[in-house]
Amino acid sequence: MNAPRLEINLDKLYFNAQYLVKKLSRYGISVTGVTKATLGSEKIASLMLRAGVVTIGDSRMENIESLRQNGVKEQLFLIRSPMISQVDRVVANASISFNSELDVLKKLSEASILAGCNHGIVLMVELGDLREGIMPSDLSKTVEQVLKLPNLTIRGIGTNLACQNGVSPDAENMLKLSQLACSIEKEFDIKLEIISGGNSANLNWVFSGDSIGRINNLRLGESILLGRETLSRNKIDNLNTDAFTLIAEVIESKIKPSSPTGHIAQTAFGEKSVPTDRGDIFQSILAIGRQDTDPDGLIPPENITILGTSSDHLVLESKKDSFSCGQEISFQVNYSALLRAMTSPYITKVWLNG
Ligand SMILES: *Cc1c(COP(=O)(O)O)cnc(C)c1O
Repeated sequence: MNAPRLEINLDKLYFNAQYLVKKLSRYGISVTGVTKATLGSEKIASLMLRAGVVTIGDSRMENIESLRQNGVKEQLFLIRSPMISQVDRVVANASISFNSELDVLKKLSEASILAGCNHGIVLMVELGDLREGIMPSDLSKTVEQVLKLPNLTIRGIGTNLACQNGVSPDAENMLKLSQLACSIEKEFDIKLEIISGGNSANLNWVFSGDSIGRINNLRLGESILLGRETLSRNKIDNLNTDAFTLIAEVIESKIKPSSPTGHIAQTAFGEKSVPTDRGDIFQSILAIGRQDTDPDGLIPPENITILGTSSDHLVLESKKDSFSCGQEISFQVNYSALLRAMTSPYITKVWLNG
């Protein structure tokens, strides 16, 4: 088998998606399945749709276009504000885009006129995490402007928390989003069909029993892919956390001193290495590195520690046995390691089940 490779268990992902869709439906919340960590994988988008997500969201036009080309017919949301340089591609392929800038919205309107289509808009609102979003006090003014732009339809509002500053979704900021939805509908006599409360970090809030208010959509990536909520990275009850396994091959295995000899300067990536002398150790090298994944996001098997990484080498210490060349070692991945493994051309993707 090719190495390094990422084994992707589609049955485990399907279970996760279906479980979350069912559980959230009891709260009146629909799920947008987010595929950006999977390079816009059509296989994963399709299984999410079969499991009941209503729409697919991705932050990159390339991914949305590849989903379209691979036959995904359902609504696709561009969940990052469009680049003005891409507005033609956006209106041609995304049903809805998330927006927070009037300049971009004007260009989307022009592009929609040219394409003879109508483009849906979700206006993103800043509620404390300080990534994207219109300041709440500016929302009404922005809505007024967008309503004047031809070929655009405001489909809803949304917010994104717990990304830039880790601000938790809670009763207060979610109530604020609900109140904004109500006041915009009243002021402009329009109906907002999508009130998108956030991402995988919102699950604790939903399940806490707080009033859900007007929130009727969440955009879920990591919780489906890795089975974890994202505030503390706790496992979500019943979900699979091991749908992805990254496998790499041993290319050197020797007994070496644990402490280097000579004057210590910077390593390949600028850090200082601070090894402690613990005598001779079983050291092995795997043919995988920073071009393939985020080594800090790899969870090694028991009795193995990661000593360091460069572009193409991952150096391990084995506490028990020495490995042999050609042997394969399996790792679990966090979101960062997954994202980079999925997007690395050096990693073979192996689809299991499904
Ligand atoms: C990435 C992203 C999501 C999904 O986040 P997860 O933590 O993976 O659930 C949702 N909304 C926006 C705007 C995003 O950029």
